[in-house]
Amino acid sequence: MYIQNGEWVIISAFSTAFKSRFNFGNSLRVKIFIITMLTGIIPVLLVSEIFKQVNKSDLIENRIGNIKTQSQILATQLSSKTFSAGDMPESIDEGIMQLSNTLDGRIILVDTNLKIVRDSYNLDDGRTILAPQIVACLKNKESGMAQTDEGYVLLASPILDAGQKNVKGVLVVLASEQTELLRAGQVSGRILIVELVSSLIIIILAFVFAKFLVKPFYQLSESITDMSEGYTGETINFSGYKEMQQLSDAVNTMVGKMQTLDNSRQEFVSNVSHELKTPITSMKVLADSLLVQEDVPVELYKEFMLDIADEIERENKIINDLLALVKMDKSSSDVNIAPVTINEVIELILKRIRPIAAKNNIELVFESFRPVTAEVDEVKLTLAFSNLIENAVKYNVENGWVHVSLNADHKFFYVKVADSGIGIPEESLENIYERFYRVDKSHSREIGGTGLGLAITRSAILKHRGSIKVYSKEGEGTTFTVRIPLTYVF
Ligand code: ADP
Repeated sequence: MYIQNGEWVIISAFSTAFKSRFNFGNSLRVKIFIITMLTGIIPVLLVSEIFKQVNKSDLIENRIGNIKTQSQILATQLSSKTFSAGDMPESIDEGIMQLSNTLDGRIILVDTNLKIVRDSYNLDDGRTILAPQIVACLKNKESGMAQTDEGYVLLASPILDAGQKNVKGVLVVLASEQTELLRAGQVSGRILIVELVSSLIIIILAFVFAKFLVKPFYQLSESITDMSEGYTGETINFSGYKEMQQLSDAVNTMVGKMQTLDNSRQEFVSNVSHELKTPITSMKVLADSLLVQEDVPVELYKEFMLDIADEIERENKIINDLLALVKMDKSSSDVNIAPVTINEVIELILKRIRPIAAKNNIELVFESFRPVTAEVDEVKLTLAFSNLIENAVKYNVENGWVHVSLNADHKFFYVKVADSGIGIPEESLENIYERFYRVDKSHSREIGGTGLGLAITRSAILKHRGSIKVYSKEGEGTTFTVRIPLTYVF
């Protein structure tokens, strides 16, 4: 058939729309429909096929039985009568024709010389017949039967004389073994109707069943769409199947987590803006106060400029810490893993911090139980340990101490940073790893804290699949314990 371009476009557009509306390949509804339909229809077809076979063989059996009885009756009637080719009494002829009509078959009467004396079809009168069943029947005085592949049955019944001793002929019935019912195909026709009707009922039921089963999925999907488009509340209230309830609970949990994440992102952005703005505001105030005054003494200029330089340094530190944090939060492909001697890393950090500790007369002790080599990202871990040791010095008291220890077993290495400092209040312990969290904002600011140090530390440790714990008592001191696997797990 020739299809014009325009028509072809319309047909393909229609088929695409149809496919996308009814995505049959992956549709649960279609699958349930097909499975239900097949589980219904296959047994029906099997049962009806078995029934058809059983019924057919029953009917054939009945038919053969009928043929046997009827020919037996006629053979008995004929035993009291005399017949020969030339002399066929009317009553015999009638009986033969009647049986031929009743059985819808051919009746042949054969004498002892195997000569056909009467053929109800008038085809072979006078001829000799040599069928083995007829010969055997004459010889044995017993009925013989044969069935052909074409579904015909030949029954030869002996006609005995009045004394029931000698055979005086053979009555042959040649008829189809199928009944009129079978021949007319009525049996299979009826069964076919039953099959069609029950298949139709099954298809309708399967359709309704599939629709009913899948309905909750559509409802859930609608609820999720409504929720994502903001038509409903922040959670889905779904009361379908137990499994669907679990699914909607999981979706609610996920949405909750996403909302928390979104809130914490928003908070982070507002914190960043605030933290970055503070030094700029201070600088502006300092600069403005210099500008509004006339004849400002050089000393005051110097003093204000020093303050401005401090604020610039602070701004710089915040930006550096933020960059470090962002880097730390990046994907794990960003890590640079190599075997590192942890003892050396800590020694180097301590060497850098020692002068700062000395200013407040803080004793800095390193205790290493064994040399430890581990697969780590040296830069990230240096940052993490630096923050912990710097904090131990920063939040310490004059003449205090900081003890750093390093140990390892066959799987992990452990770094402990203990100090005799101001300690952390119990209620703040769970918040100290949050970005920009500071127990005492003004104190932390005074000593140059950004509130990002512990967030960076924790992120670096988690990147190494490690853990960090803190024990602290206000006024007595703080101990951070870090555990990191010796081999890096990707
Ligand atoms: P900061 O830059 O303010 O030091 P951190 O993230 O490193 O930020 O630490 C968060 C807060 O935890 C600090 O402001 C401080 O109040 C508290 N803190 C951290 N380490 C110690 C410590 N060793 N002793 C007492 N307080 C500490």
